[in-house]
Amino acid sequence: ATPTSIMVGTGRAAELGVLFRKGDALQALQGVGVVAFDKTGTLTEGRPRLTDIAVAPGWTKERILELAASVERLSEHPLARAIVEAAPETLPTAEGFTNLAGRGVRATVDGQVVTIGAPRFMDEERHRAGPLNADTALFAAKGCTVVHVAVGQRVCGVLAISDEVKPTAKAAISALHAQGISVAMITGDSKAAAEAIAGPLGIDQITAEVLPEGKVAAMEALRAGGQRLAFVGDGINDAPALARADIGIALGTGTDVAIESADVVLMTGDPRSVVNAIDLSRRTMRNIR
Ligand code: ADP
Ligand code: MG
Repeated sequence: ATPTSIMVGTGRAAELGVLFRKGDALQALQGVGVVAFDKTGTLTEGRPRLTDIAVAPGWTKERILELAASVERLSEHPLARAIVEAAPETLPTAEGFTNLAGRGVRATVDGQVVTIGAPRFMDEERHRAGPLNADTALFAAKGCTVVHVAVGQRVCGVLAISDEVKPTAKAAISALHAQGISVAMITGDSKAAAEAIAGPLGIDQITAEVLPEGKVAAMEALRAGGQRLAFVGDGINDAPALARADIGIALGTGTDVAIESADVVLMTGDPRSVVNAIDLSRRTMRNIR
């Protein structure tokens, strides 16, 4: 690879909104065999909205939303924002807030311990959902992220939160397939929600219910066949995976930590830029030889 051709390739990439942060990334990208995407904010818009609530007998949707929003007001998670946006402005005060990364949040409201989080986390904590498990399955099958609201030891409400798939996601995945590249999705969300999103997109492999610290291991499993792997992500959770992937690709619309951990930064949130970057890398390296 001559320095001149790399310079030309890097310049052309910048015009396409692809920024190579590390010198060898342009070369490394040509040999990619697997592209693994994070779900939330990468394949989806990252603007989740509350779309449905189911409650246990004796509870109202209003009270569940009020309790949940009181706690989530103290969280910076995108799911928290969706819950707070749907709730009234005046809320009870939450005390002793705890963030349980990749799992949920907890605080005391009106003298009761309120826990909000992933259904699998509620199982671990023995917060029983009973008949609300049916609502959970129904919401997840629609591709919604389902969050359980437990008061004390019981799950009293289920919140369905949906986040639209980016309009160009399907085209990006088809284009990767056309280049002989296999596509995977790694997410902290439930298996059912992940499948509902990944299926229609034609994604080859899904790894769901991954804790933030598990994204690196999930990635290692995907490249077990000795293939070179690119990981595409946007969030704080994604930083370790971005740093450890053969090539880490961060969306410019993502968090600063993600961008700093990446080899390549895409100036827009359009997943088709990943295809542009690989295309450009292949063409640049071909010209050299
Ligand atoms: P992703 O990998 O899809 O970006 P995260 O690792 O941030 O997701 O979170 C994984 C799961 O943990 C979420 O789908 C949700 O069920 C639960 N969770 C995390 N933070 C919160 C929160 N503040 N409120 C409710 N649930 C949460
Ligand atoms: Mg994300």
